[in-house]
Amino acid sequence: MSIKSQLQSIKTKLPQHVQLVAVSKTKPNEDIYEAYEAGQRIFGENKVQELVNKYEQLPKDIRWHFIGHLQTNKVKYIAPFVDMIHAVDSLKLLTVINKEAEKNNRNIDFLFQLHIASEETKFGLNEDELNQILESEEFVKLKNVNLRGLMGMATYTENVDLIRTEFSNIKSCFDNVKMKYFADKEDFNELSIGMSSDYEIAIEQGSTMVRIGSTIFGTRY
Ligand SMILES: *Cc1c(COP(=O)(O)O)cnc(C)c1O
Repeated sequence: MSIKSQLQSIKTKLPQHVQLVAVSKTKPNEDIYEAYEAGQRIFGENKVQELVNKYEQLPKDIRWHFIGHLQTNKVKYIAPFVDMIHAVDSLKLLTVINKEAEKNNRNIDFLFQLHIASEETKFGLNEDELNQILESEEFVKLKNVNLRGLMGMATYTENVDLIRTEFSNIKSCFDNVKMKYFADKEDFNELSIGMSSDYEIAIEQGSTMVRIGSTIFGTRY
């Protein structure tokens, strides 16, 4: 199936309130352009240099989301244009993003990444660490970053019940944080969960943003 028809078939499965981040990492500009021509505007990348190259070469109304693990020394390359950073997992990283955003006279939207999988290898904060950051003086002082919600990745498994539990846990955490700190912050409203293999479960558990790559663009090699 073509990229265009894959996009269309995914979109018929997404409720109105769920945004699609088309994960284009490792894929060539032609593929991204095909999705763009089919109306897709939000793309996700996980390598800084690759993202910068694609930003320079592709239409300027694309909204680029950085979805991977971000190193502090590379923030400066994407700060001028990135639309959202999905996987912030430390106050140190966030402080650097804030500084670079300020230099560019911007306010950068971001999500905190929560560690929800039972696998050890994935990055992210636990709920206590998140609360500690949110209650810290340093966090409150950061004026050029805007917390839009939470992001997480479920365990890579065929076990649907485990995936469902992990997504349900991050949704509870989202609701707790919202109630405790952001009841009046209307734009704390994004829950970025769900990829090609598990986005239907994620939507059922409250996702507002799915990050889908291989189902749209084909297997990555
Ligand atoms: C690669 C990636 C995706 C997309 O994965 P697919 O299985 O190809 O849909 C989603 N989120 C993150 C953080 C990724 O790195």
